[in-house]
Amino acid sequence: MEKDVFCKIVAGEIPCYKLYEDADVLAFLDISQVTKGHALVIPKEHYDTFLSTPEKIMHKVFDVAQRIGQIAIQFLGAKGVNILTNCYEVAGQTVKHFHVHVIPRYESHDGFELELKANDEGLNLPMIAEQIKNNL
Ligand code: 5GP
Repeated sequence: MEKDVFCKIVAGEIPCYKLYEDADVLAFLDISQVTKGHALVIPKEHYDTFLSTPEKIMHKVFDVAQRIGQIAIQFLGAKGVNILTNCYEVAGQTVKHFHVHVIPRYESHDGFELELKANDEGLNLPMIAEQIKNNL
């Protein structure tokens, strides 16, 4: 099977601006900086998405994402951070290897738009809540 681009970065076949590395996790700058310091945190081992990543590894990835978010605020001058992971194409995932985006935010018009717009007309919230709750 053809390696995805992040597996190639892990293998050292594609260069990156590395921020952090341990036995399980790698963090590096996103090649397309949405804002200054936009970073990606990935497991070294391949998992398609957040949803299919073992809990321990997923926690390690988020630990590193949290630390990079804190550093963006302390040292890059960010005023906030968006932590984002897209799962599957319909959600905007383009690289099929679990990754967490750490997107530092500098002001309300820093070029990154993330609008959570209500679209809840006709939704049966009690039924939806039951469906989720009963399967947790
Ligand atoms: P997704 O849309 O899958 O959530 O995000 C994938 C991200 O990977 C994009 O933001 C894209 O810029 C980044 N990316 C894709 N190829 C490379 C690469 O070769 N190097 C680096 N550093 N980032 C990449």
